[in-house]
Amino acid sequence: MSKPITITAALPYANGPLHIGHLAGAYLPADIFARYQRLHNQDVAFICGSDEHGAAITLRARKEGISPKEIIDTYHELNRKAFEDFGISFDIYHRTSDSLHQATAQAFFLNLLEKEALELRESEQFYDEQFQQFLADRYITGTCPKCQKAGAYGDQCEKCGSSLNPDELIEPKSTLSGSTPVKRKTSHWYLPMQNHQHWLQQWLSSGRFDEMAFPITEHQPSSWKSNVMGQCTSWLQDGLKPRAMTRDLDWGVPVPLPNSEGKVLYVWLDAPIGYISATKAWAEQTGKNWQRYWTEPDARLIHFIGKDNIVFHCLIFPILLKSHGGFVLPENVPANEFLNLEGQKISTSRNHAVWLHEYLQDFPGKRDELRYVLCSIAPETGDSEFTWKDFQTRVNSELVAVLGNLVNRVMVLHHTYFKGKCYRTASCQSAELQASVERMYDELQQHVEAYRFRSGLQSVMELAREGNRHLTQREPWKTIKTNPDQAQADLEDMLWMLAHLGCGLQPFLPDTARKVFQMLKLPAQLAWQDEIQWPAGHTLNSTQMLFEKIEDADMEKQRAKLNPAPSDPAPTPSLAAAKDPITFQDFSRCDIRVATVLSAEPVEGANRLLKLTVDIGIDTRTVVSGIAEHFAPESVVGRKVCLLVNLEPRKLRGVDSQGMVLMAEDLEGRLHFVAPPEGVNNGAQVK
Ligand SMILES: [Zn+2]
Repeated sequence: MSKPITITAALPYANGPLHIGHLAGAYLPADIFARYQRLHNQDVAFICGSDEHGAAITLRARKEGISPKEIIDTYHELNRKAFEDFGISFDIYHRTSDSLHQATAQAFFLNLLEKEALELRESEQFYDEQFQQFLADRYITGTCPKCQKAGAYGDQCEKCGSSLNPDELIEPKSTLSGSTPVKRKTSHWYLPMQNHQHWLQQWLSSGRFDEMAFPITEHQPSSWKSNVMGQCTSWLQDGLKPRAMTRDLDWGVPVPLPNSEGKVLYVWLDAPIGYISATKAWAEQTGKNWQRYWTEPDARLIHFIGKDNIVFHCLIFPILLKSHGGFVLPENVPANEFLNLEGQKISTSRNHAVWLHEYLQDFPGKRDELRYVLCSIAPETGDSEFTWKDFQTRVNSELVAVLGNLVNRVMVLHHTYFKGKCYRTASCQSAELQASVERMYDELQQHVEAYRFRSGLQSVMELAREGNRHLTQREPWKTIKTNPDQAQADLEDMLWMLAHLGCGLQPFLPDTARKVFQMLKLPAQLAWQDEIQWPAGHTLNSTQMLFEKIEDADMEKQRAKLNPAPSDPAPTPSLAAAKDPITFQDFSRCDIRVATVLSAEPVEGANRLLKLTVDIGIDTRTVVSGIAEHFAPESVVGRKVCLLVNLEPRKLRGVDSQGMVLMAEDLEGRLHFVAPPEGVNNGAQVK
């Protein structure tokens, strides 16, 4: 029997609708992979569901003045339906508010306690006195210590994707009252991640570790994507720290212990366990054994996610699975980067997004068009961009002009000359076409198994291009007059090729593949590299158009719906309000000096950081500065800067930073050095 493959796609928060960034990041690649594996007759469990816990839900409910339950019921249903309408082929779309999930998560937590995998700790946490509530995660906001941008949350900065602790935030504020929170004592269960550093390092770098229970869960580290490995390595280099696995919140899976009222499981403990409970629910519905997909040594586990979830799936969840015991670890976590839209980041709050449920309404019957474009531009190796212009171009000049045109020409010619009746059994006499088909299968296999879906789709499109060239070369519209047998043989070669083209299209464009098979009067689905079969005398169905041109007017309508951040026309970006007063004494504690940058180099694995060596007169020191996106290293060397020299040293990406370079940020978000005139000596104090 084939190996069980558990394919998970990140559980979307049920606090808003899905947009194309979600699709390109996790769901479309996961769906292509799941469909591909099913075509190979693999035993697939394709798992997803709504994440209905966490502060993201309660905050939205508070904002809209309704209950969290109303929020999750609305968006769970909206998103479940949008996925279904878009043809994402989940085996189950579950939800974490389900009682089966609650029981599963609680049992998992108790097992961790039994294994002594968690530590109870008392700590001081931020508390909003006005609202009389502890401030977990998204209830607290401030400036990100890593990228210096405002609006980072207590658990994560969405600007740079860094995972944070509330204590790291600069100038923390409560999102409830807007006031500066106080510290209060509370107790929580912590995951001592630092105790797992060693085996994680071993596992990530070699694919296994010493006390590994299941040698079969070995992975090939070389098959992991470099963006994923890069983030993991950087976390491990910084040194893992204990992380609280419970929260003071009134929404979530209750901590199943006496005297734990008001405490719930941390959403990132509860959500990945959601993959397991969803598998259980699916197994119950279908009479399968869920354990086969999670606990049997030959089970393969693959997580599809966006880059903001890498740490949770590559470090925290594996620690939880191993601490619990009996589970396989992920074989791969092929995370994608982010998709931008029309030159800007997708913004759900500003409504600068293409919403899936709206696309499906505006473009009925055109889901393959969106799948095609999103797969073609998927942010597999770096951030990428969706524009409506590019969407139109790809549909019109690739789907219509290459793929649709080929299928249409062959079908129409065959119907015109031979009334759609084949004289021989399905076969191909052209060695050239046979080789092209074989090449497509080979390349597709290599690309898809390495999670390179863009290239995989290109291999299929290349077959369509070769088909068009072949047809033009054979010229059946000429030979039909001089040598009709030849024309018939050539067109039947092409029909055989179209069947294989349909086969290759199945994981990517399932509707299109089905239409091709229907025209050829073949079964609705063909297994991978199936022998294409029809008897002599087989009659084709009538021709249907696969794609139609997208008009400019449609694109203009779509662009008008977007709400990009104000840029060139009518820009009225405002200056930040003045901060609260401080005493002169507060200020005089800052030791700011004139300094000269002696050298500058990028910091490995951090796009935003430069490592600077600076002469501050009294010594020479290293400073890590978040300016790499604004300045090339060579442009910085030799500059006079102002440096806060008595800022507490801190480690950034494994480099000790001793001080902070002062910068001025203008209304466009550009940074400028705050610099004294040339000639002021290094070490001069700025007062
Ligand atoms: Zn940040």
